[in-house]
Amino acid sequence: MKLRIPDFYDSFHCTGSDCPDNCCIGWELDIDEDTYEYYKNVPGEFGDRLRANMESARDAGDSTDVLGDGSDARRSFRLQIDGRCPFLNQCGLCDIVLNLGEEALCRICTDYPRYTFEWGGVTEKSLTLSCPEAERLTFLNDIPISFKEIELQDEGLSSYMEEEFDESVAALPDDAEFEDNWDDGEDEAFASHILNIREACFKILQNREKPLGERVELYLALCRDAQDLINQYESDSGILDRELPGLLEKYISFDAKVLGITFGVDVTEYRERLEVLDKLEVISDRWTKILEATKAELESDYFRHLLWWQTSSDFNEVHYEHLLVYYTFRYFPRAAYDFCLTEKAKFAVFCTLVIRDLDAARYALNGRSFSFTDRLQTVAEFSREVEHSDYNIETLCEELSFV
Ligand code: SF4
Repeated sequence: MKLRIPDFYDSFHCTGSDCPDNCCIGWELDIDEDTYEYYKNVPGEFGDRLRANMESARDAGDSTDVLGDGSDARRSFRLQIDGRCPFLNQCGLCDIVLNLGEEALCRICTDYPRYTFEWGGVTEKSLTLSCPEAERLTFLNDIPISFKEIELQDEGLSSYMEEEFDESVAALPDDAEFEDNWDDGEDEAFASHILNIREACFKILQNREKPLGERVELYLALCRDAQDLINQYESDSGILDRELPGLLEKYISFDAKVLGITFGVDVTEYRERLEVLDKLEVISDRWTKILEATKAELESDYFRHLLWWQTSSDFNEVHYEHLLVYYTFRYFPRAAYDFCLTEKAKFAVFCTLVIRDLDAARYALNGRSFSFTDRLQTVAEFSREVEHSDYNIETLCEELSFV
């Protein structure tokens, strides 16, 4: 089995009680079927405590009912009034682990912040940016993010498999919709073309001889042209074999100006960009406040704020490159199933631009300063709001498809 991971993947270790934004607070914690069956039968006092703190939430409607009254319902831990998991103790440690061992955790707790996606005959794993430690590793180095492929023998699998590989990793954007396609059989030849496009996109995004704006122009233009070929693929299955290599080469080797590409980076104007976010499902009230503060601050003079931010000594363009690479790595594989490549590229650029907006506002609100903690917070807040909701991802992609 082949595994593809970012170079920092193996360095991840949950910081537990030292985590500044513990994922055991404020998240819905779903309990998978196997773990639920296990928890049902844990003996003794701790077993009673487990069962007393689980509830089933019916997908239809928002009503919840106590376990035992709804076999088709989703199960989760009943969060405390302050949003804490009932098993997160005052020392910031997990009572389930302390009482039953790590192997007793449900899948969501075992896997997060890792996510998995299988495509093109390879299993890809990475870390989601809503976790501060995953973020810290992502932004720790200014060198380009690279990915490594590992051929795993049976004995090497266990260190990468929390339970078993599964696209529908809990607490992450639900990739379940792609499982159906996977079951139907992936077009491996097509997937290999998407992989080649993604590789070319990495080369373009990480080519630091060019300004980032120009790299983004090339990236979007390449994806638009590749999408044109993809649209013809159904009626002409050889078109990608014939024309894609030349197209990729053209975009990797030339300047945007030489290719006559006009500036098309601002996926939407900033006001529209932030307004699109109003259409999304709200995951945390904290986000609503951040968005309001960002709008209010930028409204006074957006371009002055952006200039302040981009010319400040705290500004690090590499972080935006890393973000673009992260979104590209994570979301392009979906195009192997839904054939919508441009949408994924626009999504990557949109998310990066919104994070830049949040950064500019935060820089101003901080009295013109921006720490590494600020970097982690703006990205984590955004990721938590957008990447953990399928509805939000789909809504954004739909909005961007008209741009
Ligand atoms: S957010 Fe990340 S570092 Fe923090 S407790 Fe969760 S997994 Fe650990």
